[in-house]
Amino acid sequence: MEKMENEGRNLKRLVLVPGPFQGHLTPMLQLATILKSKDFSITIAHTLFNSPDSSAHPDFTFLCIPDGLSEQEVGNPDLVSIMRRVNDNCKFSFKECLIQGTNHTKLGDKICCIIYDAIVYFSEAVARDLKIPSIAFHTSSAATTAVRPILIQLMAQGHIPAPDSMLEVPVPLHQPLRFKDLPIFNVGSLDYFLEGVALTYNLRSSSAIILNTVHCLEESLLAQLRQKYQVPIFPIGPLHKFSPTSAVSLLQEDTGCIPWLDKQTHNSVIYVSLGSVAHMNQDQLSEMAWGLANSKEPFLWVIRPGTIPGSEWTESMDEEFEECVKDRGCIVKWAPQKKVLAHDAVGGFWSHCGWNSTLESICEGVPMICQPCFGDQKVNARYLTHEWMVGLDLEGEIERGAVERAVRTLMKEKEGEEMRQRVLDLKHKVDVSIGDGGSSCHYLSELAELLTSF
Ligand code: UDP
Repeated sequence: MEKMENEGRNLKRLVLVPGPFQGHLTPMLQLATILKSKDFSITIAHTLFNSPDSSAHPDFTFLCIPDGLSEQEVGNPDLVSIMRRVNDNCKFSFKECLIQGTNHTKLGDKICCIIYDAIVYFSEAVARDLKIPSIAFHTSSAATTAVRPILIQLMAQGHIPAPDSMLEVPVPLHQPLRFKDLPIFNVGSLDYFLEGVALTYNLRSSSAIILNTVHCLEESLLAQLRQKYQVPIFPIGPLHKFSPTSAVSLLQEDTGCIPWLDKQTHNSVIYVSLGSVAHMNQDQLSEMAWGLANSKEPFLWVIRPGTIPGSEWTESMDEEFEECVKDRGCIVKWAPQKKVLAHDAVGGFWSHCGWNSTLESICEGVPMICQPCFGDQKVNARYLTHEWMVGLDLEGEIERGAVERAVRTLMKEKEGEEMRQRVLDLKHKVDVSIGDGGSSCHYLSELAELLTSF
């Protein structure tokens, strides 16, 4: 299909290399859809692990990079180790794929640029070897992109892991962040993590940085990044607003929750999801459940299969809880989240604050309860609660009383209403940025110009 469509036209080919997790695949596939609409040919070069559904994107060519991960490795909750292995294993196989591919009709056009998720930094090494221009794509916020490299320096100074006495202390030059908000992964080895950080945030030969953020949300942080990296920085988000129909889910969406939402009243439902990778134990799940039940507010709750390691789904849920919420709770394995957040009945989002979820909530004007689990989620939560003031903090151990209070405050009290007003103001600013003449549109045109110049 792509061949027919492109017949007679000499399109420039871009190779896009996503990171192999939902929160990374999603923005890369959205970026691919946008660049396709700007007349580039698109190849998605992805790992075998968590590979995207190629049949959902007939306009793209897909190239599977053998990643050498064993079955045991892909089940490992230590994402830092997985990424280390992926980067070690794929450097050679990706280069081979590109060399073979360019001799083959599918990749016949000249590759003008490799756009890679910064966590798959092996792509930059291959681009450099093959003398192909490259651009790094950071799928997290500008705040995370600015603060993560200083972790190496803080480690050398003995400040991380931070002792209890430092946790509330502000990070110098990075307010509103405290030491406890630093984007560290608490699974696996800290040394491995920091080695990965050093490689992820070193631009080497890449010519520019793409960010899925918006100028009006992170203006001063973007200025900091421009000063540090001295290359063009393109804040072209929120990408999902430019590519709303792109099918990106690794899991099957349960659309049955939409008719359930249709029966609920305006702004009455709290939507609960902790994203695609966070895990919890039975006690935490139970505290969440009883906090929701005791709040008496209607809820839509996503519990991914395997959320509690070793369990299938909700089989361990208390019967008494199920009886108590049967008229006002809906639990699904995976939701069409963007549609859910856009639904008139949804008035709040209890979230782990992944960056995609954060942007999706802001774009629909939905205030949040912030329960970050690890990594950049803590940075996002801090910005939501203390910079944009559109989220309530639910820090520390999950406890049913705290959950109940947070849900009531967000859904029923003046403090929640004020957050709703503020997030609606933010939504309007973002709407302006993605409209004609807005900042994200402007940076997208500049990015397309740069790509055309290669
Ligand atoms: N998501 C979804 N359905 C769900 C839960 C999540 O479609 O039931 C999507 C959500 O819209 C977002 C992505 O999964 O685009 C999660 O990315 P995020 O950066 O928020 O968190 P991560 O999963 O990387 O921790």
